[in-house]
Amino acid sequence: MAVRTIEVPASRKQATARALITGGAGFIGSHLAEHLLDEGYDVCVLDDLSTGSMSNLEHLDAQDLTMINGDVADRSLVSDLVRQCDVVFHLAASVGVRRIVDNPIESISVNITGTEVVLDAAARFRRRVIIASTSEVYGKSTKVPFNEDDDLVLGPTKNIRWGYAASKAIDEYLTISYVRDRGLPATIVRFFNTVGPRQTGRYGMVIPTFVRQALQGEPLTVHGDGTQQRAFAHVADVINGVHQLTAREDTIGEVFNVGNDSEISILELAEMIRTRTGSDSDIVKIPYDEAWTIQGFEDIKRRVPDLGKIRRWIGYEPAWSTEAIVDDVIAHFRAQPDFS
Ligand code: UDP
Repeated sequence: MAVRTIEVPASRKQATARALITGGAGFIGSHLAEHLLDEGYDVCVLDDLSTGSMSNLEHLDAQDLTMINGDVADRSLVSDLVRQCDVVFHLAASVGVRRIVDNPIESISVNITGTEVVLDAAARFRRRVIIASTSEVYGKSTKVPFNEDDDLVLGPTKNIRWGYAASKAIDEYLTISYVRDRGLPATIVRFFNTVGPRQTGRYGMVIPTFVRQALQGEPLTVHGDGTQQRAFAHVADVINGVHQLTAREDTIGEVFNVGNDSEISILELAEMIRTRTGSDSDIVKIPYDEAWTIQGFEDIKRRVPDLGKIRRWIGYEPAWSTEAIVDDVIAHFRAQPDFS
């Protein structure tokens, strides 16, 4: 397969390419900002700080970084920012099932409207765009590993937890439509359980939650029986993959899983974190009905990406093992005053 480089960002690189990251003050967005600054880009972050935080960007060289506190659904603001950049990474969203369950109206509309506003501006100015999606779109499919061409299996609309997957699936349909009908150079990436420094457990993410619990001597709260399996990716691997996909023209109009395919059960994960922190915390099992505010919460039993496509396209290979990821998160927590 011939590798071709996208003309706009690459050719303007010497004149300093400019990247817009919506949601750039969030966990993944801030790592992407750091990576692009290291690569010599000027970076503009658009974030409303609803879940993102300025503290995620504080350590970065402010000279090449612009932070705009604003709403991704603000059409004229987004239009201005898109016009001034070469490439757009659209990560701004109401992220995670928990936020959709707790705040469905705002979350669903932010996800759909924000993406439509970004796509519309990018199409008008013909900018390269990466649209962040999620492994949630596969829903409760039992056909693992999840392949980009698989059917999406969502539950009933009365169960609001599927609203997150549905909103991101609409984002994907919109993106594919803009590529086809307006010639927009866009690529979709589906992030799988991405972990690393600066991720907080505030929105339910399991690794920072368990690490915090272990370091504070609290019980590690395993939901259900703990046999559910996940494959955790380090954010550095994910960012590398996304950046390489961006630089290639043959990824336009394509959907890629990005993550790690090394699986672990949540109970094994709890045990690993207890061991690696040296904690003597108990591991307790919490029924789903107690862990969630909605009745009949349906968890995904096994979630693992098929990485065949991204391997074939860019030779992607995640470098971080689950143990190394856990150790990195532990080190990050320990570096904070509350945990040292
Ligand atoms: N989980 C858990 N205890 C927690 C938080 C999460 O057992 O305190 C479980 C959760 O039910 C799920 C898995 O860990 O089965 C991964 O959860 P996370 O929210 O990190 O990601 P996702 O559910 O989106 O895969």
